[in-house]
Amino acid sequence: MADLTLAAAKSEVAALRTQLNAWADAYYVRDAPQVEDSLYDQQYERLLALEAQFPELVTPDSITQRVGGQIKSDLPKVVHPIPMLSMGDVFSKAELTAFDARIQKLVGGPVAYHVELKIDGLSLSLEYTKGRLTRASTRGNGRVGEDVTANVRYIADVPRTLPQPLTTEVRGECYMEKAAFLALNRQRDEAGEPVFANPRNAAAGSLRQLDPKITKARQLSSFIYTWVEPPANITTQREAIAGMAALGFHTNPEGRQLSQMADILAFIDTYTAQRSQLSYGIDGIVLKVDNLALQSQLGATVKAPRWEIAYKFPPEERETVVRSLDWTIGRTGVVTPTAVMNPVQLAGTTVSRASLHNQTLLQQKDVRIGDTVKLHKAGDIIPEISMVVLSKRPAGSQPAVIPEKCPSCRQPLVHLEGEVALRCLNPACPAQVEESITHFASRPAMNIAGLGPKLVRQLLDHHLVSNVADLYYLTADDLSTLPRFKAKSIHNLLQALERSKQNSVELLLTGLGIDHVGAKAAKLISQKFKNLPKIMAADVQELATIATIGTTIAVSLTTYFAQPVAQKLVQALADAGLNFDYLGPAETTPIAANFFKDKTVVLTGKLTHYSRRAFTEKLQALGASVTGSVSKKTDYVIYGEAAGSKYTKAQALGIPLLTEEAAIENIK
Ligand code: NAD
Repeated sequence: MADLTLAAAKSEVAALRTQLNAWADAYYVRDAPQVEDSLYDQQYERLLALEAQFPELVTPDSITQRVGGQIKSDLPKVVHPIPMLSMGDVFSKAELTAFDARIQKLVGGPVAYHVELKIDGLSLSLEYTKGRLTRASTRGNGRVGEDVTANVRYIADVPRTLPQPLTTEVRGECYMEKAAFLALNRQRDEAGEPVFANPRNAAAGSLRQLDPKITKARQLSSFIYTWVEPPANITTQREAIAGMAALGFHTNPEGRQLSQMADILAFIDTYTAQRSQLSYGIDGIVLKVDNLALQSQLGATVKAPRWEIAYKFPPEERETVVRSLDWTIGRTGVVTPTAVMNPVQLAGTTVSRASLHNQTLLQQKDVRIGDTVKLHKAGDIIPEISMVVLSKRPAGSQPAVIPEKCPSCRQPLVHLEGEVALRCLNPACPAQVEESITHFASRPAMNIAGLGPKLVRQLLDHHLVSNVADLYYLTADDLSTLPRFKAKSIHNLLQALERSKQNSVELLLTGLGIDHVGAKAAKLISQKFKNLPKIMAADVQELATIATIGTTIAVSLTTYFAQPVAQKLVQALADAGLNFDYLGPAETTPIAANFFKDKTVVLTGKLTHYSRRAFTEKLQALGASVTGSVSKKTDYVIYGEAAGSKYTKAQALGIPLLTEEAAIENIK
C-alpha cells in the first residue's frame, strides 16, 4: 500500500464506500445482510487504512465517520441529546493489548477494565420519567433513532416502572434468544417466508415494526449495560451495572472487573469456548475503562468512545466439499434445497447438511455439486454456506438444476405470488403426506406413541394409509403385513390410536398441520369456539378477534376448511369416532411473556392495594413463584409499608426492590 498513488487511493476509496454503503443499507435498514460480517469488517478496515494514509480523502459523509445506517423506516423519529455511538473494534489479541497500552499511556498507568460479553443484538435506549418508562428508541444514525416505545412494552424483561421515581436513561442491547430465533426461522421456512440471517437481524426486524403485535409474538429480550447519567454515588461501570440490576433491569451476569491483560485474554478464551453453549448470541467481548470519571476524561471520536473497544471473535469457518443437493418437501409443500457435504467439525458439532432455503439463495451463492465451500454457523447455531471457493471448483461443473417437478409426486412446482419458496401444491403428494402424518402423530399434536417417521414410511410403502384419517381404520390384519411388526407392537399401536381419539380438539387441530396454525394458535382457537364444527364455521373476522390470532392465521384456517378434500378428511375422522370437543379448562391460555413470568418473588411489609393473598394469586397467575424468604434466587422483593428484615436482606444481596405500586404497574 506504501506506493499507492493518491489517484489510485481515491478511486479505491470511492468504490469501497459505495460497496460498504450498500451493505450497511441492507444490514441496518432492511435487516437482511448481503454478506458476512467478517467480509464487511475486512473492507471497512481497508477503507480505514486508506483514510489513515490519505487523510485528505476523509469526508464527513464517509461511513467511517458516521454511526449505523440511514434511517428510512416509517417509525417516528427520536433525537438523542446524548448521541448513541458505535464502538471501535479489534480482531486480534495483539490489537487488544495495543489498545490497553494506548489507554495506559493516556491515563499514565494501569487501569481497571469492566470486561463484558458483546451481545449480538441492536442498541436500545430506554428513558424513564419519574420512574415510568416513557420512551424507547433505537440507535439509528446515533443522533436520530426510531421510536419503538409501543414495541418495547412487549419485551418482558424491560421494567415499565422503576422502584424509585427516577428520571433517567439507560441503554443496552435488544436481542433474541437462540431458541426463539430458531423457532421463528422454522416457522418462516415452513410458511415459505424468507428466514432471518442471524438472531441480530431477527431482533432488529422484530423490534423495528410498525405493528407492536408482531413484536409481541417474537419474544425479544434485553441486556442493559449503560447508565447514561448515573447518580453521583456510582463511580464505576461495575457499580452502574449493579445499580441498574437493583432497579430491575436485566443485566448480563458474566461481566468482570479485570486489570491484567493475561486475565482479559483468559476471559476471551473462556467465552470463545463457551459461546456456543450460551442461550444468546455473542460476537465478541467489550473492554471498558471501569472508572466513569476516566471515561469522561478520555472522551470520544465522532464515531466511538475512546475508553472502550470490542474484540470480535474470529469467524469459525471450515472448508468442505458438497456431495449432493437434496430437495426436501415440507408438510406444507415448500420445497427446500439442502447441501449435503462431507462431515466437518464446526463450533462444537459435526455438520454435514446446510439448508440453502430457496432457489434464489442457491442461485445467488451458485453452490454446485463438487464445490469446495466455506461453512460457518450463523448466529452461532445454524450451519450455513458462506461462499464457494471458486479456485477449487472442479472443471466442467454445472450450475445446480432447479427442479420443475416435485421430486416426490412429479407434479409441476410453482412460486406462489410474493413467495420466494417453490411449492408443490398437490395435497396427495407422497412426501407431503409422509410429513403430514408424522406431524399428526407427533407429541405436540395427537401424540400417538410408537408412530414415528420410520413406521409412517412403512405404512405408506405398504399402501396401508394415504392420509391421517386412514390411521384410524387400520386393523390388526393390515398391520401384520408389515415386516417385523409383531403382535405386541400391533396391539400397542392400535391402543395408542384408540386413546388418541379422546384427545381434546386442539391437538387434532394442531395435527391437521394447517399453515401457520401451531399448537398455541390451535389452543386459543379451540378455547374460543369449543368444537371443530364451530371452528370450521368461523369466518376470518371472528377468528381474528382472538388476541394474537392475526389475519394470516385466520385466512389460512378458513382457506383450509373451505377445501372439499379437507371436509372429506374431517368427515372420515368423525366417522372413526374422534372427539371434536375442547376438553381443556376454560382459562388455560398459556401465560404470555410478562415482567413476572418465571420470576421468584417475595412480598414483604403491609400492602395497601391488595390483600397479601390476592396479590400472591395475581403474581402466580402471571407465572411467578411467590416464596416466603429472600435468597440469592429471589428475582424481586415487593415491599409495602413497614417492611423489615426481608427488605434489608434483599438490599444486602443486591436483589431488585419494587414498591407495591411499581409492581402493580408492571402487572398491567
Ligand atoms: P458493533 O455492532 O460492532 O458494536 C457496537 C455495538 O455493540 C453497540 O452499539 C451495542 O449495540 C453493541 N453491544 C453489545 N454488547 C455490548 C456491551 N456489553 N457494551 C456495549 N455495547 C455493546 O458496531 P455497529 O456500529 O453497530 O456495527 C458495525 C458492525 O456491524 C460491523 O463490525 C459489522 O460486523 C456489522 N455490519 C455488518 C454488515 C453486513 O453487511 N454484514 C453491514 C453493516 C454492519
